[in-house]
Amino acid sequence: MDIILQKETFQVRKIVILAPDGMLIATRVRDFAFCIYCSKLRCIFSQYMLKESDSDALQIAMETFAYTCGSPIVPEDHPLYDKVFVRMNLTCSSPIEQIYYSCKVEHSQICYYCGEDDDLIEPSQEILSKFQIVYPLCKVCQEGGKDYFTKGRIQMQKKKRVV
Ligand SMILES: [Zn+2]
Ligand SMILES: [Zn+2]
Repeated sequence: MDIILQKETFQVRKIVILAPDGMLIATRVRDFAFCIYCSKLRCIFSQYMLKESDSDALQIAMETFAYTCGSPIVPEDHPLYDKVFVRMNLTCSSPIEQIYYSCKVEHSQICYYCGEDDDLIEPSQEILSKFQIVYPLCKVCQEGGKDYFTKGRIQMQKKKRVV
């Protein structure tokens, strides 16, 4: 019994997310950060809409401190450090965050796996009719063996009986 409990505690501790609870949600996405290594866009979250001065400071910070996946968006001594957040449990091989596609900030369609906006494949009616969400897929990723990432399989309705 003790051993099981210890194991659970250990697993919980392993998850490190440097953002307050409930921060990393679609309605709190304010902007996107661009990773200089993998060129993927990562969501930037904050509790409130950023003031223009904060927004400017953030833009400057992003230009100054080259952002890479899994690191904070601004350094610890930056005034925005406890105001703006990015998901920390990401690496450059992580796909685009699903929240990117559902957030209210204007965003373009980019490949779920690589973040590319060129050569996206038009999903077939068949796949669109089977899933609630079909994330974009580019030609390169498809040729590399990737398939559409989907969410919410739509239950096929049983054929109505003809009376
Ligand atoms: Zn990256
Ligand atoms: Zn791709």
